[in-house]
Amino acid sequence: MPPAERERVLVRSVTDVGLAVSEALDFLGFDFAGRRVWVKPNLLSSSPPEHSVTTDPEVVRHCVRGLRRHGASRVWVGDNPGGGFKGTMQEFVAPTGIIEASEGCFVDAGTNPGTLRLESRFVPQVAVSRLLFDADVILNLPVFKTHALTFLTGAIKNMFGVIPGRQKTRLHGKARSAYQFSELIVDIFQAIDKPVLNIMDALRGMDGQSGPSSGRVLSIGKLLAAGNAVATDAVMALMAGADPERIPTLRIAAERGLGPIRRDRLDIVGDFSPIRGFRLPGPVIANIGTFLSGYYYTASRSRPLLRARLCTECRQCAENCPVQAIEMSPLPVIDRRTCIACYCCVEICPAHALVVGKGLRGIWDRVSGRWSRT
Ligand code: SF4
Ligand code: SF4
Repeated sequence: MPPAERERVLVRSVTDVGLAVSEALDFLGFDFAGRRVWVKPNLLSSSPPEHSVTTDPEVVRHCVRGLRRHGASRVWVGDNPGGGFKGTMQEFVAPTGIIEASEGCFVDAGTNPGTLRLESRFVPQVAVSRLLFDADVILNLPVFKTHALTFLTGAIKNMFGVIPGRQKTRLHGKARSAYQFSELIVDIFQAIDKPVLNIMDALRGMDGQSGPSSGRVLSIGKLLAAGNAVATDAVMALMAGADPERIPTLRIAAERGLGPIRRDRLDIVGDFSPIRGFRLPGPVIANIGTFLSGYYYTASRSRPLLRARLCTECRQCAENCPVQAIEMSPLPVIDRRTCIACYCCVEICPAHALVVGKGLRGIWDRVSGRWSRT
């Protein structure tokens, strides 16, 4: 649905998850009766709920119940993990608690994918979950988290998860800088021609350099809800203490008219307040603004650091690196010259053994507060 001039966003303090989800669904004001709904949580990794990597199962459970109450004809719950995984989807997802919470609605979103055509300078099309075509509407359930590359990951970025398997990590090789990758994320989001409704899980969140999987878990105690993903993420940015104009995905989406990000175009309803002490990632938003930007971007990016004592030598990082910069010997060794600092390995590592270091890039980012368009 086309974005409105102003968008309403609900921020709801949560004491009872069921009540808060019910209120959020009412706030969305969508007539779910007779509709087929894809409930799309964040299932980035095989993590238990308290790690705050994946959507809280109670949010999923109450969304499913609420959609049934609203008369949805079909509800599917599913998502595509960050990269490849061993075993079945059900085995991978079980630790998140979402299969049980889906109350019979969980499906493997990675089977029998279709093709989504893009207007993008990076790729003409991507393979996507069949659910994207089967559903009438998507109920998007992102988690309130930082992201080492894109600064924040919220409603827009969660829709990147429509892509199954390792294609997601390979795309980092096509769109290498933070700005380019953010542009590709928006290309994919923009190509989805279904209503995307958003309930953001901010019961807990994640901040710091190493989101979205190895950052610091913090208690927020809120849900956000909006019919527009861009507005949802703009309010998330404001709560995190970031200027939405400086988040690449938000800036690009707003430039394309996909939703408002300026405070005076957001009607924030409920219990909005900035989160005290929220740590934004430093090493992302960089721009030297001259011909030196490419050099700077390559030379100064923080490379992942290995916390060797945590590594289980599972090889996931090496198998998912889009530029084959990791060699197992027997622990992973990163070739710094080949590495493009996409942080896929950090995101995917099940043992949280890889983190994003602070480096020259981080210092420059804080000074410049801008990012590279190269
Ligand atoms: S760093 Fe993480 S992903 Fe890589 S081998 Fe070790 S445990 Fe596996
Ligand atoms: S080593 Fe990690 S950060 Fe570097 S390119 Fe490979 S996956 Fe990306």
